[in-house]
Amino acid sequence: MDKLPKELLNLLACPVCKGELSYDEKKEVLVCDACGVFYEVRDGIPDLIPEQARPLSELYGEAPPERQP
Ligand SMILES: [Zn+2]
Repeated sequence: MDKLPKELLNLLACPVCKGELSYDEKKEVLVCDACGVFYEVRDGIPDLIPEQARPLSELYGEAPPERQP
């Protein structure tokens, strides 16, 4: 699967808070730190629907998300 191009990522915003999203390449999801949720990317198309938002705890387990170096 192609990676999400940076140009596209710059255009994307969280559907809930309109804030910036960060792309987790390992998990292939878009993360909104402000909302504490993530959105799945299916076939290179981000699922930016508030109903599809899932808590970050689901992505990272119980531990709070830590920035990877
Ligand atoms: Zn948000």
